[in-house]
Amino acid sequence: GGADIECDVMVLGGGPGGYSAAFRAADLGQKVVIVERYSTLGGVCLNVGCIPSKALLHNAAVIDEVSHLAANGIKFGKPEVDIDLLRGYKEKVIGKLTGGLAGMAKARKVQIVRGNGRFIDPHHIEVSVTTGNGREESGEKTIVKFRNAIIAAGSRVVKLPFIPDDPRVVDSTGALELKAVPEKMLIIGGGIIGLEMGTVYSTLGARLDVVEMLDGLMQGADRDLVKVWQKWNAHRFDNIMLNTKTVAVEPKEDGVYVTFEGEQAPKEPQRYDLVLYATGRAPNGKLLGAENAGVAVTDRGFIPVDKQQRTNVPHIYAIGDIVGQPMLAHKGVHEGHVAAENCADHKAFFDARVIPGVAYTDPEVAWVGMTEDEAKKQGIKVEKSVFPWAASGRAIANGRDEGFTKLIFDPATHQVIGGGIVGPHAGDMIGEICLAIEMGCDAEDIAKTIHPHPTMGESIGMAAEVFEGSCTDLP
Ligand code: FAD
Repeated sequence: GGADIECDVMVLGGGPGGYSAAFRAADLGQKVVIVERYSTLGGVCLNVGCIPSKALLHNAAVIDEVSHLAANGIKFGKPEVDIDLLRGYKEKVIGKLTGGLAGMAKARKVQIVRGNGRFIDPHHIEVSVTTGNGREESGEKTIVKFRNAIIAAGSRVVKLPFIPDDPRVVDSTGALELKAVPEKMLIIGGGIIGLEMGTVYSTLGARLDVVEMLDGLMQGADRDLVKVWQKWNAHRFDNIMLNTKTVAVEPKEDGVYVTFEGEQAPKEPQRYDLVLYATGRAPNGKLLGAENAGVAVTDRGFIPVDKQQRTNVPHIYAIGDIVGQPMLAHKGVHEGHVAAENCADHKAFFDARVIPGVAYTDPEVAWVGMTEDEAKKQGIKVEKSVFPWAASGRAIANGRDEGFTKLIFDPATHQVIGGGIVGPHAGDMIGEICLAIEMGCDAEDIAKTIHPHPTMGESIGMAAEVFEGSCTDLP
């Protein structure tokens, strides 16, 4: 059949994976089209994920920070929150970034085709043009013919079957809309997204309950890191329900009544003003007509790929949330670069040793590579070194010495294979440990690197020094 547009590389989805792939492919001389249903680039991350959540968390962190100054003789009044202005600030942040992306696309002559894309065969996609801010289809269709394709269609919120349609029951997107601050809020799912949003609402005045099916909050991070976060944040919570199932959510006139099951579960349904469900995200693999292109999709909607990000159809690649865990923007960006380079006939592979995880709560919790808990579970022998921030001049000066920095070493080589940090700005610091792991650094390399004093980042060098000092069997 005919095509309205022809290109070398068609990128389906304009999120962090998709735009990174598109820009790299364009930089390598490819004619690139992005198919995106929304009016802005940036996907979940920029529009309803990483960025708006951090815009709100920053404001919350400042409020929390100044409240601690009272003990030092500096008192502020209770903050007056103009929620419309705060929401406006968040929108402005998004606008700056999505505007920047549009400019970058234009500068690279990347064409954006606005609409819902659906593969019709291995070299054509049909785009049902969308209008306005949402997904309304205008009825108009555009056919794009491509030599290579990169599927970057991301993931969506999973709505559990017992979640009703009610304005007081929201997902992360609804919570980011910040309509009002409830008195009493329930977070279903004690993962990063739920706890970040809980931090914002609690600082603005909400009392929190959290319910988690597993035996701990913030799964994936070592328990000793999470413990520090939990102690610092105990004041926000009325009830932390672990090993507990949520079985019913019932909107009534005076509130939303939620029923729980489990040993720690309250017997009676509990009343909330706002319920946030943050129990996970599902990949969009089944919504793209992938079968028409011959692309294999798993039952759960993931698209399997090899180390070059190729699907089972060699000229069609997939990247980002749609290819698997961890569903993180920085993973998708790297996969996007690999796919784009392969489209331009380079030979690129995704071979990152580690992908860091960060909870941008207060304090932040960051980890990368091998964790202590995972090593224990797998029966892998590791050694560790912990530097408590109670011994860090800068952390003490900042009034924030609750945290610590931990390095995990291979006992045979003393190479660093993992690390964790809990404390303010942990997420900004974890990058050094990522680099150390990628470069195969051992404890001595890190210990002999001069870190600036006094900084919290210094704690990484100190942890390595402590480990070096304790070793008698230097390799
Ligand atoms: P997405 O960002 O999901 O983008 C996919 C795009 O494809 C969307 O724009 C969608 O409209 C479009 N699309 C899908 N199907 C079609 C179709 N058929 N036709 C046309 N267009 C289509 N990650 C981090 O690393 N750090 C964080 O701090 C962080 N915070 C988060 C906070 C929240 C509240 C949430 C929900 C997520 C957060 N994440 C964070 C995760 C991060 O947002 C995702 O990992 C990332 O956005 C995935 O990028 P992607 O390119 O794979 O897909």
